[in-house]
This record gives sequence, C-alpha cells and structure tokens, in this order.
Amino acid sequence: MMLFDIFDPKAAPRPVGIDLGTTNSLIAWVNDGHPETVTDCDNEALVPSAVSYDERGNVIVGRAALRRAPLYPRETIVSVKRFMGRGASDPETRRLGPWEFVEPKTDDEAKVVRFRVHERIVTPVEVSAEILRALKRNAEDRLQRVGGVVITVPAYFDDAQRQATRDAGRLAGLEVLRLINEPTAAALAYGLDKKQDGLFAVYDLGGGTFDVTLLVLDQGVFQVRATGGDSALGGDDMDRALAARLLEAMGVGDTGWSPEVVRLALDAARSVKHGLTDREAVEIELPKVAGGEVVVTVTRDELDALVRPIVERTGVVCRRALKDAGVTAAQLDGVILVGGSTRVPFVRRYVAELFGREPLADIDPDQVVALGAAVQADLLAGEGAKQDVLLLDVLPLSLGIETMGGVVEKVLARNTTIPAGARQVFTTYADQQTGFELHVVQGERELAADCRSLARFTLKGIPPMPAGLARLEVTFRVDADGLLQVSAKETTTGVEQAVVVKPSYGLDDAQVEQMLLDALDHGEEDLSARRLVESKVEAERVVRATAQALAVDADLLEGDERAAIDAALAAVRAAVDGSNASRVRSAMEALDHATHPWAGRRMNRAVSRAIEGRRLGEVEGAVASAQGVEAHLEAHGHHGDPQ
Ligand code: ADP
Ligand code: MG
Repeated sequence: MMLFDIFDPKAAPRPVGIDLGTTNSLIAWVNDGHPETVTDCDNEALVPSAVSYDERGNVIVGRAALRRAPLYPRETIVSVKRFMGRGASDPETRRLGPWEFVEPKTDDEAKVVRFRVHERIVTPVEVSAEILRALKRNAEDRLQRVGGVVITVPAYFDDAQRQATRDAGRLAGLEVLRLINEPTAAALAYGLDKKQDGLFAVYDLGGGTFDVTLLVLDQGVFQVRATGGDSALGGDDMDRALAARLLEAMGVGDTGWSPEVVRLALDAARSVKHGLTDREAVEIELPKVAGGEVVVTVTRDELDALVRPIVERTGVVCRRALKDAGVTAAQLDGVILVGGSTRVPFVRRYVAELFGREPLADIDPDQVVALGAAVQADLLAGEGAKQDVLLLDVLPLSLGIETMGGVVEKVLARNTTIPAGARQVFTTYADQQTGFELHVVQGERELAADCRSLARFTLKGIPPMPAGLARLEVTFRVDADGLLQVSAKETTTGVEQAVVVKPSYGLDDAQVEQMLLDALDHGEEDLSARRLVESKVEAERVVRATAQALAVDADLLEGDERAAIDAALAAVRAAVDGSNASRVRSAMEALDHATHPWAGRRMNRAVSRAIEGRRLGEVEGAVASAQGVEAHLEAHGHHGDPQ
C-alpha cells in the first residue's frame, strides 16, 4: 500500500527549536506535549554543520557536504559557528581553515569575515543561513509548516555573535522568537524549570569545543551564574589521539604522510571511538603503507588512556567555573551532560567523579539542546502560551562607556543577569561643549583601548553650557536575547538619542577568555594607568578652571596670593607632563591649599550676586569653579531593571 502525505493548506505552523552547533545541527518540535527531533530522509536527526558550494552554483548542506570536504576543502565550509560575528581583520580567522578570505577594502567590509568560493563571496551569516534552511526544509517535510523558532547559542556568545545568529535565522526565512543559551535549553529539556529552585552544572563536550555553565534556577527562572570553556577541546582531539595510534599501525612514521592517509586514519579513529561507546573492543582493517592490510584491535581501556589527558583539561575549566560562581560541587543539585562526546564512557565516569554525583544523561546528549529549544518555542508560541516563562542569562563581559582620557566607566558588570538595565549620569568636561561623543565598549580592562569597541555615536544639539553643567544620562538596556540598546539624554534640555548596538566585530569564546585573563594579568597595571589618566584629566580641568577664575575674580586676591597660586599652577602643569599619579595629586592639593582663602571670597561674591536675582544654576557653577573640585564624571549609577 502506498501512503500519501496529504498537504493541508490550513495546517497550523509549528513552533520549532534549533540547535545550530559547531559540528552538528538539529531541529526539534513538540509533538503532543513531547519534544522530538525531526529526522531527515536518511532517518538521521543530526545534520553536520557543513556547507559546500559546487562550481555550478549549487549549495550542498550536511552529510553530503561533509563527504565533499576532503576533495574540495576550499569550497566546503565547516565549523562556521567559529566565525560568527567576527571581523575580517581578526588574526584568528586566518588560522581556522583552508579557505580563501576576501581582503576588506573599507571599514564596513572589515566588520565581517568573507569567504571566496568560486565566483561568489559568502559571509558566516549566509553560510549559517544555508544550514538553517536545510533544517527548515527537513521540518517542512514532516510538519508542513514551520512557525516561530527558538535558536540556541553558547552562553558566552557576545552581542555580535548573537546578532549574527539572529540575522542568519532571518535570512533563512525563519521567524526567530528568541535566542536562548544552549545550557538553559538542556535544563528545560530535563524539565528542571518545574523544580522551582536549584543549582545545576551543564557539561557540554562537542566536536571541537567544550563549555561548562552553572545555572541557578530561582522560582522557575534560570540564570547563568558562571560560564567557562575551551574553544579548542572536543571529540576531534580524541580522534586525533586515536588516529596517531592507527597511523603507527599502518606503518606511517616520519615518512608515508599524505593528506589522504591522515584523513583515512581520522575517519577510522572516529568510527572506532563511536564503536567503543557500546563495546569493550573494536577491530578495524587498515591499509599498510608498505602494502597489504593490518587488522588493529582497540580496547576501551586503550581509548580511556588516550582520552584521559584531553578530558582532564575539562576538569580545570569546571573547577574554575565553580570558583567563579563561588560554589562547591557539593552544592549542586544536578549535572547535565550535553554534546556527542559525553557519550564516551570515560567522560561520564570522569564527570561523575569530578562533581561527586551521577550526571543526568537519560536524554540523548546530542539532542538535548534542540529538544529544550523546542520546549521553549512551544511555550512562546503555543496556544495558551505560558508567557511568564522568562529565561535569564548573564552578560559574558562588562559593558561600559569611554570617559575622558580613555578610561572605561563600567555601566553593566560582567555576569549581570539579563534582561537588565543600568543608568549613569555623566557631565561635560569642556566649557561650551555642544556634543557628546559616546563610545560603547565591552571588556574587563580599565582603558577603552584594551576593550572591544562596540559602537560610537554622538549626541548633538546641546546648547553651550559651562563645563559640568550638562547632565548626560546614559541608559543601557540588554534584552532577553542579550542584545544591547544604548540611549543618551541630556536632561536639562531633553535632547535625546538612542542606538541599537550592532557591534562591529565579533568575539569568540577564546577571546572572551583571553580578555578575562588579560584583565586579571593586567589588573594592577591597569588600575595605576587608570589612576594616572584620571588624575591628569582632573588636574587639567582644575588648571583651566583656575585660569578662568583668575580672569574674572583676580581683584579678590590679597597679598602674595597670586604668586603662590601661579607657582602651584606651574607645579600642577609639570606634574601633568610626567607619569606619576601621586605627584599630580600632591600638586593638586597644594593648588587647592593656595586657592582656598580666595575661593571663599569668590563664593561670597557669587552668593551675593545670586541674591541679586541670578539663576541658581549659574551660582552652582560659580561655586563649583570657585572650589575647583567638581568631578568631571559623576556616577549616580544605579543598577536594576529600567522598566
Ligand atoms: P557540536 O555541539 O560541536 O556541534 P556535537 O555535540 O554534535 O558537537 O558532538 C560531536 C562530537 O561527538 C564528535 O566529535 C563525535 O565524534 C562525538 N560523538 C558522537 N557520537 C559519539 C559516540 N557514540 N561516542 C563517542 N563520541 C561521539
Ligand atoms: Mg552543541
């Protein structure tokens, strides 16, 4: 009997969840209350994240693309996730593969990596969109119509990387409901959100990346407490270790190497590794360089010994994440296994020992993320949607504003849970300033030059005012997808402007990690650089204010006050030219001392003028400049939700 699928034009669009992985991607949906993955025509749920372009302009995705990779390495793009949201000038991008990159000619072009394949130029967003399109087609075969989609991203993904993922979804013709973190999706698949409270570790060992995330569940809401990872650690390393042993058996030593032989050994290694997940020993027949064949037997014990040093590296990362979150393994309520490589029995044993408990592994670790994403999509789009499901995550790196002298004022700190908002008030540094240049940066370092530049914009049209009078209120809002919006308002005039930050350059997890390490390494150094810059900026401002005051109120000087002030001013200027922060500060104290009695007289004059009917604001300004000490930057920072 033939079975026909009858297309129902009124079929309701189904919400779906997508795990867009570095090695493999999957799509899932909720069937009658139970999440399940969609399989393709070969009955496979996993679609390798590989895209190959042939010379006739065809785009091949998945297993077929992966088969083309050894033959057409430059036309087949794998692990494109590593390039998402990343700039072309990023030196990292060159080391990641055999592909031809297009040299950027303009700043705009430098914002994204571009691959040249035959005559076409493709970006990581476009390549990812091809993978998403293939998943969508598979789902349409099964579900007829695909509705809103939830796509997962690593917890450490920054703004640029999230933005790029969302763009890829849109490009594939998908309605992206939300991006959620991979570990959060895994926890949802296990239904942990129903438990109300708890602390969970998600251990994700994939093909080429390792991530660990500590999730806090508080009244049904997830928050990422800490993340850690290694962007060059995964199943591929196991394959390489085992392939080295197989190559030896094939008689490949210092000679006999060729790309084909290595590829063969790697493929053989992977299938042996997979076989050893369910069996104690696997036999494989391999060609010998000298001719003939050799049968190699690999036991589980041998594999364990080979993977041990690789897996032990994950332990270091996990312990650091626990420390970051300020918790011990004993305080955890559960550990979740994610990623194909956690099928390796040694990995399971290691994780159990590391955390002192059996990890949750009943749900296929390959599928758990996609299943959780489907659950979330169903909740967001489904009828009677429980809209109160709010997933909270954290910022991977601090967000801030560059202030005078290139110093960063952090507005939202690293690990702040999102959605979040924060507001800070800044003031003008120079007299008659009619515009503010705002420079939004991300990173942990004290100086803007050492952080990542996210956006610049100018708030114009402020009426000229004396320095320090304008009140610039800068608001940062990070939405549930981790995307940043910055708005600035000059409160005395109401002039306002907002930008959605579409960052120019992407950061990958290794860079995030590197930036964190740098901040630790340079902490002391940065702090003293910051102190020096700040004291110089302040000193220059005071010198200018004093000079201005001398121009108006010199008649109030008595005795040899002028000479003392001039000498003190010269000392401050000399200190500013040097690089000793404490010298700047002591010269400032001396100047303050020299101007003190005169400042009192100036204040009296200002006050009596005010009584004569002048505007209070001017008086405040006059008083401030008389004192010569109003900070150039005021941080009335308050953290919390702006709504
Ligand atoms: P990613 O999240 O990076 O896309 P996956 O979670 O799909 O990656 O993991 C892919 C890795 O899992 C590969 O290295 C693959 O060899 C490994 N893997 C898949 N199945 C098994 C298995 N049965 N035994 C051991 N390793 C496996
Ligand atoms: Mg994965």
